[in-house]
Amino acid sequence: MSACLVCGSSRYAPLFKASDRLYRTTAREFAVVRCGECGLLRLDPQPAPEELRLYYPDNYWFAPDQSAAGRMEEAYRRLVLRDHVRFVERALRESQARGPLLDVGCGGGLFLGLMRERGFREVGLDFSREAAAIAWRRHQAPAVCAMLEHAPFRAQSLAGVTMFHVLEHLYDPRAYLRSAYELLAPGGRLVVQVPNAASWQFRLLGRAWNGVDVPRHLFDFRGRDVEKLLESCGFAVVRRKYFSLRDNPAGLASSVAPWLDPMARRVRRVREGSGARLAKDLAYFALVLAALPFTAAEAAFRAGSTVMIEARRP
Ligand SMILES: [Zn+2]
Repeated sequence: MSACLVCGSSRYAPLFKASDRLYRTTAREFAVVRCGECGLLRLDPQPAPEELRLYYPDNYWFAPDQSAAGRMEEAYRRLVLRDHVRFVERALRESQARGPLLDVGCGGGLFLGLMRERGFREVGLDFSREAAAIAWRRHQAPAVCAMLEHAPFRAQSLAGVTMFHVLEHLYDPRAYLRSAYELLAPGGRLVVQVPNAASWQFRLLGRAWNGVDVPRHLFDFRGRDVEKLLESCGFAVVRRKYFSLRDNPAGLASSVAPWLDPMARRVRRVREGSGARLAKDLAYFALVLAALPFTAAEAAFRAGSTVMIEARRP
């Protein structure tokens, strides 16, 4: 029997079963349960590491091709990352800590490239060697392939650590938070972002909500769950943001029409001609635009489908 990550209780109740709606890597169903004490949602039982690996498609990160569509997609991705960039920029400016910024789970390195254009020093870290190589090649962002516990950085040497959509994928999120604490200089900032299970989208859509993303998400955090974890690791919560232009509207679009999601089509290697590709991209983009008012409203009520949290290392 497994215990709750946040409160340690072993009481829980089944909530629902769900399968991989987005990438369809398996037909299996997975059980999501709710902690009977604190209410944290988790996958239970968790797949073993060698099994979980099979549920990560091998082209899981973004590497644009040189076609017009590829260049347009990159321009779009740069535009919609502005919430992340501004949030982290403010956190770093308000911190007195010195040193580089480490982006954990850096993928293809676009965020690091944008931070460097704004004058920050940065390094990346990713599970995937290919992703780290792309980050280095495309954005000249030095990136290493490692687990954070074994990352080659000196203790207290970093001004900032970012983890966008990382914690929910880990067996032991607390180990990553502790490592971030060790690596940050006093006054340094940790910025984490996760899908928010206290969102209107989850209440409305339940297991069809894109943020559930079984079996890759081992936890479905609410903002308050992450804050408890952060505090238990010694951090002080500074600021929260419930809207992300990149994630919230697109998450709703992908929940409603997972078969239109461009990343899912690429990952699943859906065969389509260029006309069909363009038509599906446009239909998806129309859905994203249509989702904007709803996602802005839920965020205004602190129930956005993602939450970004700034925490200070004392
Ligand atoms: Zn609990």
